[in-house]
Amino acid sequence: MAKKQFKAESKRLMELMIHSIYTNKEIFLRELISNASDAMDKMYYRALQDDALEFRREDYYIEIFPDKETRTITIRDTGIGMTREELDSNLGVIARSGSDQFKKDHETAEDYQIIGQFGVGFYSAFMVADRVTVNSRAFGQEEAYQWESSGIDGYTITKSEKESHGTDITLHLRESSDEEDMDRYLKDYEIRSLIKKYSDFIRYPIRMGEDTINSMVPLWRKNKSELTREDYDNFYEENHFGFGKPLKHIHVSVDGAVSYNAILYIPSRVPYDYYTKEFQKGLELYSSGVMIMKRCPDLLPDHFGFVQGLVDSEDLSLNISREMLQNDRQLRLISKKIREKIHQELLQMLRVQREDYEEFFRNFGRTLKFGIYNEFGKDKEELQDLLLFYSSSEEKMVTLEEYVDRMKEDQPFIYFASGETAERINRMPQVEKVLDKGFEVLYFTDEVDEFAIQMLWKYKDKEFRSVSSGDLKLDEDQEEKRDGSDEDQEMLDHLKKLLEDKVEDVRLTGRLKSHPVCLTAEGPLSIEMEKVLNSMADGEKMKARKILELNSSHPLLDRLRELYRSNRDQLDVYGRLLLGQALILEGLDLEDPIQFNQDILKLMME
Ligand code: ADP
Repeated sequence: MAKKQFKAESKRLMELMIHSIYTNKEIFLRELISNASDAMDKMYYRALQDDALEFRREDYYIEIFPDKETRTITIRDTGIGMTREELDSNLGVIARSGSDQFKKDHETAEDYQIIGQFGVGFYSAFMVADRVTVNSRAFGQEEAYQWESSGIDGYTITKSEKESHGTDITLHLRESSDEEDMDRYLKDYEIRSLIKKYSDFIRYPIRMGEDTINSMVPLWRKNKSELTREDYDNFYEENHFGFGKPLKHIHVSVDGAVSYNAILYIPSRVPYDYYTKEFQKGLELYSSGVMIMKRCPDLLPDHFGFVQGLVDSEDLSLNISREMLQNDRQLRLISKKIREKIHQELLQMLRVQREDYEEFFRNFGRTLKFGIYNEFGKDKEELQDLLLFYSSSEEKMVTLEEYVDRMKEDQPFIYFASGETAERINRMPQVEKVLDKGFEVLYFTDEVDEFAIQMLWKYKDKEFRSVSSGDLKLDEDQEEKRDGSDEDQEMLDHLKKLLEDKVEDVRLTGRLKSHPVCLTAEGPLSIEMEKVLNSMADGEKMKARKILELNSSHPLLDRLRELYRSNRDQLDVYGRLLLGQALILEGLDLEDPIQFNQDILKLMME
């Protein structure tokens, strides 16, 4: 019998399992039991839907047999089983969205993190066994097949015998060593305690001999007061909702117009594919304890897409199809309630667990901002109080409400400044004067920030205003300062002509303090937004309407006036250089770096 080869990515995972230094090897049992339970769900679901099938609850169970003689442990289920083809495709390759990730080469430490995120699944058997036999008979089939593998060199599938549908998985345990006791998995009480620890909530009986070991009450049906944080954390890990421990859990039990139980989690880490197109939001959906969908997207709005967990309701029909679910009134009601609950809990966390909230916001804040921007700001009211921005005066993250409450009486706007980092923003010429005036400035370092704020436009009747935009209303006399003499105007017109394909206008400004020059934008598109839009691969190239502003109280201005009178060529060199400086300060590219260098050189040689 020729051996079949594992697919490359499975080989890699198997290698990791075999040479695993994973300290929690005992979790193999939880993984296999959870697969058994899934297979039973599938069978159960089928039986409930098909009137022709006789349905007997007592037919659904999992059994565990340790055997000291052969040094094996067998996990038996009466689930849906696997056909020959399914054995080949399901166990020959990791049928997971995450398998792509394994193709990329990772350092060992990171590998384990990734495994943690997906859950280790069937392959975890190889952490404790050097040979694994799977004997399975698919429901509705006469023949059974046996899959066997001793590790990386491949697997075989042969015809076998089995009385009824379901799967037996037999692990031939590795030899114990000084570091590792494999024989513990042959001891009755050890296995019992592992089942209690990891699989107590499995909804089918897990039997050893005459005894049923697990309590079978799903966690979400239990009373909140009986449960500890650890119970929720374990459940999170068991179900592969995320890596590590969750930041927060939310347990809801509602009896009313629609009854449901839900356990929701806010992860403490960003899933590796979260900010990609591949990520799929959704919650597990159960109808009276039977899973009907693994990821039901309709339960969560996009802006809460990071939430993980499950919902169980007895008001949902089991036979409902995917399309019907979308229009199901009960489901819509549940999703509305869940959304309100998540919102409430986040606000609560913001108020009383600020540090946790800030951690949450670092991970998922962008999602909330996208939420504000989406669909023309339809959800902005709901989301605006969940936002945090870095504040110039507080030097930490603040809410919009905190900002507005602190605003000075004569402060007309909520000021913000955009840039790559807080440090860069700090050095922006436009920021200086606003800070000098004693006004707080919010720092926008996320690409989406300005887009979201443009959608908000106002918060509590206060308008947002970029420090780089036209009128900042800092000084009453600012207007005057802007209008120079006639001669100044002639000089500005000259510079405007010189730079006409690069800027809309050249003006004097009172907004600057120590810097001689800055760029601002007029119209709806800011300079930051131009950068973002132009960095998108297929984005249309757009230009902000840029204004070159010259500091009216800077001594350089006298020099420019002088050159305007006596040396126009030199003035042009200055003009181009000033634009270059302003572009660099904004983090924009010099359109003509060669000219820029020649101009500098020219000045140096004088
Ligand atoms: P996952 O369970 O996350 O899909 P696994 O590697 O644990 O990944 O299992 C791969 C697939 O093998 C499962 O999706 C399932 O289709 C099948 N499988 C595993 N164990 C069983 C079982 N006891 N009965 C039926 N099918 C199973």
